[in-house]
Amino acid sequence: MPTKHWPPGTQCVTKHDHTKPKPRELAFRKGDMVTIIEAVEGKGWYRVRHNETGQEGLLAASALRERGAIRADPKLSLMPWFHGKISGLEAVQELQPPEDGLFLVRESVRHPGDYVLCVSFGKEVIHYRVVHEENTLSIDSQQYFSNLIDMIEHYMNEQGAICTKLVKPKPKSGMKSAEEELAKAGWLLNLKHLTLGDRIGQGEFGDVLQGEYMGQRVAVKNIKCDVTAQAFLAETAAMTKVRHKNLVCLLGVILHNGLYIVMEFMSKGNLVNFLRTRGRALVPTQQLLLFALDVAQGMDYLESKKLVHRDLAARNILISEENVAKVSDFGLARVNPKGADATLLPVKWTAPEALKHNKFSSKSDVWSYGILLWEIFSFGRAPYPKLALKEVTELLEQGYRMDPPEGCPPTIYALMKSCWELEPGKRPSFKKLTEKLQKELKHLRDI
Ligand code: ADP
Ligand code: MG
Repeated sequence: MPTKHWPPGTQCVTKHDHTKPKPRELAFRKGDMVTIIEAVEGKGWYRVRHNETGQEGLLAASALRERGAIRADPKLSLMPWFHGKISGLEAVQELQPPEDGLFLVRESVRHPGDYVLCVSFGKEVIHYRVVHEENTLSIDSQQYFSNLIDMIEHYMNEQGAICTKLVKPKPKSGMKSAEEELAKAGWLLNLKHLTLGDRIGQGEFGDVLQGEYMGQRVAVKNIKCDVTAQAFLAETAAMTKVRHKNLVCLLGVILHNGLYIVMEFMSKGNLVNFLRTRGRALVPTQQLLLFALDVAQGMDYLESKKLVHRDLAARNILISEENVAKVSDFGLARVNPKGADATLLPVKWTAPEALKHNKFSSKSDVWSYGILLWEIFSFGRAPYPKLALKEVTELLEQGYRMDPPEGCPPTIYALMKSCWELEPGKRPSFKKLTEKLQKELKHLRDI
């Protein structure tokens, strides 16, 4: 019996059918998704909940596999049916042999900016012009959509003004359907289990909403723009590779309204707001150290997976109900709809070599971690107060570094300074930072 240790909440996929369960056992079909509730003492069995039916029961560990990671593959597309600039004639050839409801979308050659939905019906291919006006798309000037993904989703469910319901996408050659790949690996969630609530935050690329998924409180990031959603998809792949107590956990995604990214809910919000609203009077030094340690541990794990964050800052640290700090937005940091524009980098957090030569590494993350430490011990102040961005870069090269925040322990200030070594190789690793913080906490408890 292989020993597996799946903590509660782990998402697993069943390996085969089990249709005649004994009492207390769960019935399932190959490929069903279940959530681990708890291990059954020493038996190689788990109590699980079926993700579709919500039923609970026992299941042998040998019948389960953990869901797999998604590979960041440029061929993975949210819009595999999008063929770009091809002519009407080429579209007709693509849609052979005829099959009712087989479809693709192309860019209009005659009307730049517009699209054409091409649908096979009877023996013909019908071309519908999709007019792109004021950021909306429409075929019939009655139904409007904010992006192609929504439009296709709509006409797959409803015939509307077109000849037939869309049935089968014709993928562009070499493209893989993200939806299928996500479903296969077990990361596609079901819209019908999701209830959305209030808005809890506004991200750069879309709103963050509170919600519930099969009884669990969740946070949902909605990315409406199809191009951004596609970029996020590549980066969401990073989130499928990791699991750690100090990294915000991805539950899965839903392809609806662009893209929904469903994450664990962090009830106490981001670290900047947490510290600013409570302040010195309510947050003891020990708690500050614990936050710093949480982040260092999460980052040590990311480093071990060879993942670089690029946007480590207190605004991207979230706090759970139990005051555990977790790193978020990892792997998403590289999504930049305006291209690799250096002017959009978070200058005050970014290491000099990353700013100047685009050299991002775990060591440039360590620099950012130093700034984050400063933010923590100043209870959420903005770094380099009173300095303009341009001044910061210049002063750093001349050897200037921020002063310690008021009341900051000297050992912690020394840690910050070590993160701000100009030479990346001289900065500590996240493992080293973890050890130093543990020592510091022990010291604090001993006195
Ligand atoms: P972006 O990085 O795209 O600008 P964030 O992911 O930082 O957006 O989210 C914006 C805000 O939404 C956060 O500062 C936080 O207050 C809230 N938020 C994001 N994710 C969660 C979550 N998992 N749980 C609770 N609140 C969240
Ligand atoms: Mg963020």
